[in-house]
Formats: sequence, C-alpha cells, structure tokens
Amino acid sequence: MQYRNFPMVPRVIYGRGAFDDLHEIIAPKRQAGAPFIFLVDDVFARHESLRRRIPLAERDTVIFINTTDEPKTQQVDALRDRLQKEFGAVSGIIGVGGGSIMDMAKAVGLMMTHEGSSAQYQGWDLLQRPGVYRVGIPTLSGTGAEVSRTAVLTGPERKLGLNSDYTTFDQVLLDPSLTKDAPKNQRFFTGMDCYIHCIESLNGTYLNAFSKSYGEKAQALCEDVFLHKNTWDDDSDEALMMASWHGGMSIAYSQVGVAHAVSYGMAFVLGTHHGVGNAIVFNQLEEYYPDGVRRFHDMLDKWRIDLPQNVCANCTDDQFDTMIKVSLGMTPLWENALGKNWPQIMTAPKLRRLYEKM
Ligand code: NAD
Ligand code: ZN
Repeated sequence: MQYRNFPMVPRVIYGRGAFDDLHEIIAPKRQAGAPFIFLVDDVFARHESLRRRIPLAERDTVIFINTTDEPKTQQVDALRDRLQKEFGAVSGIIGVGGGSIMDMAKAVGLMMTHEGSSAQYQGWDLLQRPGVYRVGIPTLSGTGAEVSRTAVLTGPERKLGLNSDYTTFDQVLLDPSLTKDAPKNQRFFTGMDCYIHCIESLNGTYLNAFSKSYGEKAQALCEDVFLHKNTWDDDSDEALMMASWHGGMSIAYSQVGVAHAVSYGMAFVLGTHHGVGNAIVFNQLEEYYPDGVRRFHDMLDKWRIDLPQNVCANCTDDQFDTMIKVSLGMTPLWENALGKNWPQIMTAPKLRRLYEKM
C-alpha cells in the first residue's frame, strides 16, 4: 500500500452536559452478566456531582486511578488480571480523565483480549485483534489521546505506545464542562502539548494537506485561548477541547518532532510528565521552531507560568546516556523534524548539550 490507511474513532458525541447521555450510549453495548468498568481519575473521587452522574447499573464498577505517575505496563497488566479474575468478561471499559486515563482505558481494554504483558505490545502494529468496547471521556484538553491510535505506557525498557489500528476508542464523549475545574498550570501544560503537536506537525517533513488542515485549525484555537483572550471562560474550555481533537488528527497523518523526541528521554529517566516535560524542552528549541517558541514565550508570560528550571542539573552520566539513547531511538520523530539525514544533524553530544540546558 502506498499510503497509510488510518482508523478513526467511529462515534463521537460533543456538547456541554453530554456526559448525561452516557447511559443511553452504552446501554446497547451491555452484555448479560458483564459489567461496565469505569476507570476514573481519582481527582474526581471527591467530586460528588460527577460521581453521582456516573450511570451505574447491575455490577458496574468504578475504579479510581491515581495519576501521580503516568500509566505503566505493570499497572495495566495488574488491572487486566484483576478484572478477569473478578468479573470474567466485561461489557466495556470507560475512561474518565486526562491523557493518562485515556491511555489506561485504551490499554486495559485491549489487554482484556490479549495474553501476556502489555510491554510485549509496545511498538507498532503488534496487537492482533480488537479489545473490548472502550469509551474515552476526556477531562483535560490537549494530548489528543482521545482520538489517537496509540496508548502511551512506560514499561521496563521504554516509554512507548501500543500503536495499532485496534487502539482507537470505539466511542468518545466530548463534554467541555468536565474540563472546567482543571488547575491553571495543568491546563496550560496539557494545552501546550496540543500547541507543540501543531508546531511539530506543521514544521515537519511529513506534512501533507490532511495534517495541515487540522494542525492549522488547532494552532489557531490554541492561540485564541492562550494568546488573544485575557480570561478563561466556558468558550475557552470548548475551544481547547476541539483544539486537542484537531491536534491529534493532525499528528495522526504526520508525526511529532524534536520536543517530543527529547522529552520522551527525559520522562523515561526522570518521570517528568508529558505536558510539562514538552514545555521544558520546547522552551530551548528556538533553533528548530523559532516562531512557535517565540509565541510560546508570550503565552508563558501572559498566563504567568513558571517553568521548572534545571531539571537535569543533577543527572549522572549514566542518566544522560539513557535519556540520549531513548530519545535517539525515536526515529520517525527525528526524521519528521530534521529529514532523512537527521543522524548527521542530531548527534549524541549535541543532544547532551541540549539536555544540560534544561
Ligand atoms: P494527566 O492525565 O496525567 O493528568 C494530569 C493531572 O491533572 C492529574 O493530576 C489529574 O488528576 C489532573 N486532572 C485531570 N483532569 C482534571 C480536571 N478536570 N480537574 C482537575 N484535575 C484534573 O494529564 P494529561 O496531560 O492530560 O495527560 C498526559 C498523559 O497523556 C501522559 O501519560 C502522556 O504520555 C499521554 N499522552 C498520550 C497521547 C496519545 O496519543 N495516546 C498523546 C499525548 C500524551
Ligand atoms: Zn504530546
């Protein structure tokens, strides 16, 4: 085949308050004796109004997940084992949270129909069949995980997604009111993930009209909310939710670039979260994305965001070496960013100097 034939999320519902339609959406998917499992970010454990609206029936179960650390393969495997032991079959997995929960829900649903550890499926097209029915309900906007064909997990060897045609959700529910209470800094950093997706996609060698159309729209929406508006309001939540979707669609048919390649290495060694890690890296990338970085600095100033400094200051040589190895292993990202002869441009010493600046 000449071109990649991508799966898309087959069903999506959008609207303020759409969460209350969930019971109707999932009802036809219920199988006798098999519960729905709701994987919910534990930030909502104390959020009575959301908890009460989760449409539970029969043996449906809510599992609150702590996202202090981003999702790990062992965590996914343990949850799958627990669900199989406790329930046998399930009717579906419904994830309610940010990108971490989106990826957990996608991965756990896939692993319900696959043997072994999820670490075995980190890579490209290693999953062999569909998972159970899976619904994604984002409560933070920016990662595009709600629309992507990957579920990013940290495993024993690497941080890498389960990339496959089976990974995309069966249903997504976009309700911008769910993002309303996200803390300002978190909203900014996850929003910047989207902004960086756009800059990397639009300035990459893989760019094409499909990706460009989504990337330009997502970038404009990010700039509307983070550069042109002075306060955060309901419209901002709506715009950023659609930016996240479009940003995800843009990279589906292109690729991310330098910031992601470098921040993956940092995340693997230091556990830095995706949004803030990308921002720390992007801050140093004027050489590659001059215009995008300039506007990013304007957004930092406008929202008075303090970026963590000197995160690599105490790294050992071994840690730097691991970061560099993980980062330089992300071939498609470098190739998209710098072209086919990228290994001549981004060498290990150059990358080390870049990490030392962060
Ligand atoms: P997150 O899901 O890790 O959540 C960050 C924090 O925000 C958590 O403390 C969480 O409890 C809190 N939170 C979430 N929603 C909230 C709300 N409405 N109100 C208050 N607090 C809320 O953050 P994220 O940036 O959305 O996701 C990062 C993860 O997404 C990483 O694991 C990254 O690898 C992954 N990712 C995946 C893809 C993909 O295509 N699959 C793309 C980019 C990033
Ligand atoms: Zn990202």
